[in-house]
Amino acid sequence: MSQIVSNLILIKQRIELAALAAHREPEDIQLLAVSKTFPARAIEEAMHAGQTAFGENYVQEAVEKMGQLAKLRPWLQWHFIGPLQSNKTKEVAQHFDWVHSVDRLKIAERLSVQRGEYPELDALQICIQVNVSAEDSKSGLSLSETESLCDAVAQLPNLTLRGLMAIPAPSQDPQEQRNSFKQVHDCFKQIKDKHLNVSGYQFFDTLSMGMSDDMEAAITEGSTIVRIGSAIFGKRAKISP
Ligand SMILES: *Cc1c(COP(=O)(O)O)cnc(C)c1O
Repeated sequence: MSQIVSNLILIKQRIELAALAAHREPEDIQLLAVSKTFPARAIEEAMHAGQTAFGENYVQEAVEKMGQLAKLRPWLQWHFIGPLQSNKTKEVAQHFDWVHSVDRLKIAERLSVQRGEYPELDALQICIQVNVSAEDSKSGLSLSETESLCDAVAQLPNLTLRGLMAIPAPSQDPQEQRNSFKQVHDCFKQIKDKHLNVSGYQFFDTLSMGMSDDMEAAITEGSTIVRIGSAIFGKRAKISP
């Protein structure tokens, strides 16, 4: 068995154990395989082991691999999870199924208009990226700014608001990891409870949180999509974005 295939089996076991420990159904947690920096053949290998959802951070790199895997397109789901600049939104709107990293209205508006140029495609599935660690250099919103961006995105055509995404600062302390994820879950619940019958919120069901080193804490705190890279594909070589 290849390393990727055995890693996938291990990750699924980790998801299952963490879910059961949290009294959750393992099926309620989707595995997103983060394939950035790894070649198309690694994705193909994971796909043959049953993995269909893949996450990418760099538009150019992703589009190149999508081209190489074009024949498999009907079975693959592509998630954009990296920082998104205005000049890249068009390609993201054209090629991806999900975007996890929307953190300002301008980006969402561009994605909405540009997705509309491809009427054959379904709505782009959107998560709003929130910022949970105060000293975090990564992009993202404060919890208090999140709701108004959700409200705006919920009204845009060609987009479906799905939930929230977060990347807390790395921590080795499981309790600290859980605290960050709990903040995001609390924010998610507040927004959800307030918008139960509001149009544009019908599919607000997603908490994208947890990576290779903190997925158990994320699942304990309600994650519905874990984004796992190195624990599936191996250690990444450093690349300059
Ligand atoms: C790279 C990346 C991941 C995967 O990280 P691992 O630690 O390799 O599992 C998840 N989410 C985002 C946003 C990433 O950039």
